[in-house]
Amino acid sequence: MDKKSKNHLVYSQSYRSDLSVLGSPVSFAQDRGSRVLEELAREFSPGKPVAHFKPRLATLKQLRLAHCSCYIARLKKPATWAETFGLSSVLPDNEKTKATLTKLLSEYRLKSGGTVQAAKLALAHRLAVNLGAGYHHAHRDNGDGFCILNDIAITIKALQAENLVERVMVVDTDFHHGNGTASIFKGDRSVFLLDVYAREAWPFKKETCSLAVPISAHEGHLYLDKLKAALDKALSKFKPDLVIFVQGADTWEHGVLNRGEGFSLPLSTVQAKDELVIDTFVGHGIPLAMVFAGGYGERAWEGHYHGVKHLLYRAGIMTAPAE
Ligand SMILES: [Zn+2]
Repeated sequence: MDKKSKNHLVYSQSYRSDLSVLGSPVSFAQDRGSRVLEELAREFSPGKPVAHFKPRLATLKQLRLAHCSCYIARLKKPATWAETFGLSSVLPDNEKTKATLTKLLSEYRLKSGGTVQAAKLALAHRLAVNLGAGYHHAHRDNGDGFCILNDIAITIKALQAENLVERVMVVDTDFHHGNGTASIFKGDRSVFLLDVYAREAWPFKKETCSLAVPISAHEGHLYLDKLKAALDKALSKFKPDLVIFVQGADTWEHGVLNRGEGFSLPLSTVQAKDELVIDTFVGHGIPLAMVFAGGYGERAWEGHYHGVKHLLYRAGIMTAPAE
């Protein structure tokens, strides 16, 4: 692997947010990006770190394109975070908490800036991935499901405001329905949301999507067929300038958080899913930017790794096909 990987990978060490300060029992895997980079280095460039692009904070102006100013102001309040992270105890409203939340918000803005950057790199170099983010539950005026800012919506609106794209397709294969993205773009004909999600799982109130593909608990074996048919249908209806692929490693049977909530996929199917999405848009010559979204527990990075590797292979960074 050479230095050209910088054109396709976006990451900062500051993505490793310390969410333990919030006191949530959820096993967040904030190390996924660094674990993926470490494994790429081990496999393809031993002894050398993998070159990647370091993002900048999403600006307040960019945040305001997707979120209302009143919500952005509320992000200073501990209650807003407690609600979004489903905390049973209220965070103390003191200086220490304020400093913690200021740092966390800055890290979320950085990850959102990373998605903006990955999308710009995709427009320039066809394929790119932000090794984090994918906060598809955040709505315009409130957070939800551990998602404070909707980096996907921020990115689409920021690129549209810069006249870099007109029409964007979001392909969301996270285990959970992307309710925030759906609600933000409701009625917006410039954005097509193809969402493949677990029918029975949270969020229980589903928003209207351009093309919704709910998968029932007993339908895991049909996942790839349904995804393939949905991709064909989406592309027959909508020709995007850019695709944002919300990857999601929580469809994997080791996705921890979702055990028993709906279908689960073996790693081979998760990998085939990622290849199918990436190959489909490469085949149509449409730029694609990938973001991580859900993935929980010690092994979560493994659910992302093959997709990143395949993206780099299709970008021409690797000479041999990804295993
Ligand atoms: Zn999820």
